[in-house]
Order: sequence, then C-alpha cells, then structure tokens
Amino acid sequence: MGYLTQLRCRECQRTYPVGPIAACEECWAPLEAVYDYDRLRAELPRDVIAQRPPTMWRYRELLPLNGDPCVGGSTGFTPLVPAPRLARALGAREVYLKNDAVNFPTLSFKDRVVAVALSKAREFGFDTVGCSSTGNLANSVAAQAARGGFKAYIFVPDNLEPEKITATEIYGATLVRIRGNYDQVNRLCSEIAQKYSWGMVNVNLRSYYSEGSKTFGYEVAEQLGWRLPQNIVVPMAGGSLITKIHKAFRELQQLGWVEPLATKFFGAQATGCSPITTAAKKGSPEIQPQKPSTLVKSLAIGNPADGYYAVKTILGSGGAGEDALDEEVIEGIRLLAETEGVFAETAGGVTVAVAKKLIEQGRLNRDESIVLAITGNGLKTLSAVRDGLPTTAAIRPKLAEFEEHYLGLTPASVG
Ligand SMILES: *Cc1c(COP(=O)(O)O)cnc(C)c1O
Ligand SMILES: [Zn+2]
Repeated sequence: MGYLTQLRCRECQRTYPVGPIAACEECWAPLEAVYDYDRLRAELPRDVIAQRPPTMWRYRELLPLNGDPCVGGSTGFTPLVPAPRLARALGAREVYLKNDAVNFPTLSFKDRVVAVALSKAREFGFDTVGCSSTGNLANSVAAQAARGGFKAYIFVPDNLEPEKITATEIYGATLVRIRGNYDQVNRLCSEIAQKYSWGMVNVNLRSYYSEGSKTFGYEVAEQLGWRLPQNIVVPMAGGSLITKIHKAFRELQQLGWVEPLATKFFGAQATGCSPITTAAKKGSPEIQPQKPSTLVKSLAIGNPADGYYAVKTILGSGGAGEDALDEEVIEGIRLLAETEGVFAETAGGVTVAVAKKLIEQGRLNRDESIVLAITGNGLKTLSAVRDGLPTTAAIRPKLAEFEEHYLGLTPASVG
C-alpha cells in the first residue's frame, strides 16, 4: 500500500480518486498527486533511505504507485559531480552537475517519468501505451514498453534528430511521424487517448508521470549530504521538471529531512522556443504560445502544459528565466565537454549557456552553490554539433607525418 491518497486540482482544489484522468472536470487545470505526509513522517525515517539500492525507487513512498514498479528498476541515482573546471570558466565558486545524461536505460531524465508512468499504466490495466514527444520521451517509452511487454504508439514531429528516431524504432514500437510541430502532435495524442483508452504517459497518465521528476530533486539533496542547493538551473520544455524539483525540495523540508532553505530556481530555454522564459521576464505567468524555431528540439514546446506553474515557481523562488541562442547552446555543449568531460545534448547546452549568462548578469550569485541539471546525452544530438568540429585529413602511418602535421616539426628540424 502506497501513501498516495488522491488527486487534487491545482486551481479549484476539487479532489478525485486515483485514476487515469487528465485534468479537472470543472476547470481543466492539471491534477496533482497528494500524499499522506503525516503518515510518511511517522513511518519513514530518513536513515532507511540511505540503506536502499542506488535507484530512484529508494524514495518509493513518495511516488504514486501501490506496488513494485514493473519497469525501470535500475533507473535514477545518477551522479551528482562537482564541476570545478566549469566553475572556474564561469567565474563561480561551487558548481555541481546532476548528470542524467547517463540515466538508465535511455540516457535522459525522461527514464524517471516513464518508469513511474508505465508502472502506473500496469496498475490501471492498460496494455497499450504511448506518448507525444520531442524525442527523449519517445526513446524512453519505446524502451521501457519493450521491457514491460506493452504495445506502444509513439507520436513525434517529423523534424526530429535522426538519432532519436532510430533510438525509438529499434525497440519495436510503432513510431508515428506527424507533419506538424509538437503542439499539434500533442493535440492528436489527446484525441487518440480518449477514443481508444490507451495509457498516454504525458496525457491521461500525466499526474503520475510527472511525479517521477521529483526523484531528480530528492537525489540532488541526498547527494549534497541532505542539503538543498542555494541555486538550481533547469532546462524547460513543458515546464514540468522544474515544478516537480520544487515540489521535491518542499516535501523534503516538510518531512524534516533537510534544513529549510529557499532555493532559487532558474529556468532555461532556447531563444527560438522560449514561451516560459519570455513570460518570466515579463513577470507574469500568462504564457503566449510560440512557433518553435531552434535546433534544441528536445525543448521545442511552443505551448507548454505546465508553463504557467513553471513561471510561478521561478518568480516565487526569487530566481529568473533566461534563454540562449542556438550558437550559445553549441558553445555551452562544448564548454561543458571541454571543462568537465561530460557530453550533453542540446538541452544541456541550454542549461550551461543560460547559467553563464545569469552569472555575467549578476542574477545567479557566483559565491553560492549552483546545481546544473544535465538532462540528456550528447550522442543523441550529434547532428547539432558535428558541423562545428574540426575535420582532419587522415595521415599515413609515419612518425614524420604525425610530427609535421600535429607538432609543426619539419623533417629537417626533427633530424
Ligand atoms: C523533456 C526534457 C526536458 C524538460 O522537461 P519538462 O518537464 O517538459 O520541462 C529537459 N531536458 C531534456 C533533455 C528533456 O528531454
Ligand atoms: Zn479544478
């Protein structure tokens, strides 16, 4: 028996029994998972967590399942690594990378949300699952549906990176490519979920799916020695991850597992698709939808489902929203790789580029602790950076040729 008690509307507070429902029937606002925190506080001491295996399921009581997960048993507990060389390059003192580029099984933070969503889908009795995706979600649903023995239909815009297409089809899922942007794909997906009663992870399972993102936040706190960071920079697509890390930090304080601390939340987007940071800059949570035009496909959601709440989280925390041009994103990917040996996808480039800007602007305090959310792997977006890298001609297998071409020595000077 889990600690999830019901779903509650974020706006009108109407409550619903646990079930596969997408939104409040009164006001169409999202439904939030509610737990019995009093019972949690009484029954779950922090020390128990530390003795469990290093996966996201060490926080299972704070996730919305009744029983054991059916997929993603090894997902989560990715490294939190100090990044001193990046910190020096950014002119900051204490920077950490939370590295979900090495998450199991498909190398992005989406493995967390999908592990929860498909496990909940099994509890609800769905045999077919699916999603609308900007790439990483497609990879993760396809992989974990294969592992869980679900049928999967995956809907994506037709301009995705080839790596993300291949890394979906390989698992045997049905990939449906749509001539349209993510927002159009998502609308179609909602219609299909209703008509066929399939478990669409980010539609009718969204209230459960999104809870998986909280584990990113729990892990950051535990890996810092049960301490909250003073600042965190998070890339945003639909705006769910940033709001759920915020919920995670609040819960940890509520449970008395960390000292109270008002972490500042900084949201990062690509300038070519920046509905959330644009609203944050205006100081208002009202989102003006945009038509995405950026190489950062994983964050290209023009009408973000949780954008309103993401802005509220950012502004309410004393943080800020900022965006980066595609050229700055590529520089960010390279800076992270060259300083810390971590190859992130375009979303990671956004995070690093935005952190750099915010530090330069003095809005991100260079003397405080800063966690950067690295949410996906660079091998999935090779096409974004490949053209900018030097291509060298091959040489013959001769020492003299190596010395001439790479050490600038002429045959005469070598002797
Ligand atoms: C989906 C995604 C995000 C943003 O997630 P939201 O919860 O939709 O804001 C960030 N980084 C990567 C790599 C993603 O795939
Ligand atoms: Zn409501």
